[in-house]
Amino acid sequence: MTEQTRVLVVEDEKRIADFVGRGLESAGCTVAIAGDGASALEKMHALDYDLIVLDLNLPDIDGLKVLEKIRNRKTAPAVIVLSVRGNVEDRVKGLEMGSDDYLVKPFAFVEFLARVKALLRRGANMPERFQVGDLVLDALRRKVTRAGESIELAPKEFSILEYLMRHRGKPLSRTMIVEHVWDMDYDGLTNIVDVYIRHLRSKIDDDSPVKMIHTVRGIGYMIDMPAEIKN
Ligand code: CA
Repeated sequence: MTEQTRVLVVEDEKRIADFVGRGLESAGCTVAIAGDGASALEKMHALDYDLIVLDLNLPDIDGLKVLEKIRNRKTAPAVIVLSVRGNVEDRVKGLEMGSDDYLVKPFAFVEFLARVKALLRRGANMPERFQVGDLVLDALRRKVTRAGESIELAPKEFSILEYLMRHRGKPLSRTMIVEHVWDMDYDGLTNIVDVYIRHLRSKIDDDSPVKMIHTVRGIGYMIDMPAEIKN
């Protein structure tokens, strides 16, 4: 962790916020603290953070709602959820909604710090930039450009495109896409993939003579340079 590691601690219990904040500062992070959900969202709009430490029990908005909003943002910070709710249901829900880790209060700071370090390391090792022809996807900044022009994508559109680009040249079935992007079994609802692919094509391919998104008959979809250009 370096001074460039920016952390936002969202916690209304001042004692815990101070304890976590001071610890992170001594570990070299730059720390901001938000005492409720609204000010947390405000701070996230003003600045991109690398890590959000998020308490679920906030005085104004449910922490899970805040998490949902974080995940809908274009930049994707790592998120550690803090909660006294130790039950499995909340834990699963938090992870499903995109938290990267989950700590139940009370916790020891050494354990917290170990998790933070693991999380930031994991993020650093993930490939973050994918390119197919003039189409570029930056997974870290959640940005997509085609021929240098920025393209705005909805979160699910982005996830589908990222999944296709991570597996460039490999046909992916609708079921695989649904399970990956929605993180659940959407059996029978695979038509939703066709809808999203249509949106993606209109944003990515329609304005260019070079079509990147291919329909693979009987399987699903694939992203690659068209064969006639490659060969
Ligand atoms: Ca709280």
